[in-house]
Amino acid sequence: MPEGVSWNGSIAFLDRDGVINVGSENYINTPEQVVLLPKSAESIGTIRRMGYRVCVVTNQSPIGRGLWTSQNLAEIHKRLQEMVLDNDPDAHFDLILHSPYAPWEGAWARKPFPGMLEAGRQLIDNATLDSNQSELELLFGDDWVDRPDDSSSFMVGDRQVDIIAATRYGIKSYLCNPDEGLSGVMEDIF
Ligand SMILES: [Mg+2]
Repeated sequence: MPEGVSWNGSIAFLDRDGVINVGSENYINTPEQVVLLPKSAESIGTIRRMGYRVCVVTNQSPIGRGLWTSQNLAEIHKRLQEMVLDNDPDAHFDLILHSPYAPWEGAWARKPFPGMLEAGRQLIDNATLDSNQSELELLFGDDWVDRPDDSSSFMVGDRQVDIIAATRYGIKSYLCNPDEGLSGVMEDIF
């Protein structure tokens, strides 16, 4: 967390393309294609300074379609994190989760299903408890019975799939304009 700030227990779940960086119909395929949306880095920094942890949840079907690998995605996310931190040193991503599945696989981990949000909450909680992540058994859907209070968490996305995933998970959500991204809804959130 930023200096002097303690975690408030809530998570800001952020879609990536159209929220943090400029999206593309043909995907973001290389680190060089990452272009930040105006003030998205500063908005992430603000969210963390207000005590939230930030979890990026992004559908990445190019992996499931066989176009490229999760290693390539890791390079893209490394570049994204560097660019964001260049603009705001508090704008760390606490966690980045991606769904590699193609749409036709119907995966629970692919938005509009809430699997990534469910996983994000459990992974961040578990990391905070400092227990061994390798022994963590993630629970999904009806199998996850004993859920923590998540009423102050929220999701920001630029598409209906993001909003539906948040609704299914049970948190409030904000639909942003993909040309403005996260900064365009900050006044609505806070
Ligand atoms: Mg998007």
